[in-house]
Amino acid sequence: MGPYTLYQEKIIECTRWLSLNGFFGSLRGTGGNVSMRVPGEEAFIVTPSTLPYDQLTLEEMCVLDFNKKRIEGKRKPSVESGLHLKVYQCRPDVNAVIHSHQNYASVFAVLNKPIPSLFDEVSLHLGPVIDVIPYALSGSPELTANIGEKLDNGCHGYLLQNHGALTLGSTLEEAWLNVELLEKIAKIYLGALSTGGQPTLLPDDTVNLLKELRKKKLKKA
Ligand code: 13P
Ligand code: ZN
Repeated sequence: MGPYTLYQEKIIECTRWLSLNGFFGSLRGTGGNVSMRVPGEEAFIVTPSTLPYDQLTLEEMCVLDFNKKRIEGKRKPSVESGLHLKVYQCRPDVNAVIHSHQNYASVFAVLNKPIPSLFDEVSLHLGPVIDVIPYALSGSPELTANIGEKLDNGCHGYLLQNHGALTLGSTLEEAWLNVELLEKIAKIYLGALSTGGQPTLLPDDTVNLLKELRKKKLKKA
């Protein structure tokens, strides 16, 4: 067992689950990618590029340093490695990053419409808003730069305009849960809007209270 084995195993489990449950947009495709920060090192582990998820093994996982130099793994790393790295550099509270192509969140990504926090649970986990990161080509430095511009809102969920979603967590389990919470809120927001009615928002004082609770939760993590 190597120094990264436990993390690699966790990423494989999470990635397969996300793929089998449709969070990468198509069940047979290879969209999306997952990573974890290596504790105590300037390094992260990320899924390889365009490898079918049922073929993911420990050896296929890529370990990169913060200059994107390969430490381990023979495959080409995800084209979004720069995006994952940007998050680890800008957000010390984040130890896991999931980029997905999930369907309901993608509705708001193509509408270029942020999703407000509609439930206590979502606000506590993802933050007060799921904002939209402006479009740039997949895997491009421009996309990484656009993400860098938004990360200081402290939230754990974003939409990538005309592309998909980005979900963060202080652990992989948390980022994984956040993917589901984001899909839930996007589905309910879409359903509510499609009735022609006006969805109600959480009261301002509740949003402020949840912001404080969230700060405390992140400090403890
Ligand atoms: P990779 O297969 O290189 O991870 O790319 C998938 C993707 O979602 C690009 O945005
Ligand atoms: Zn993508």
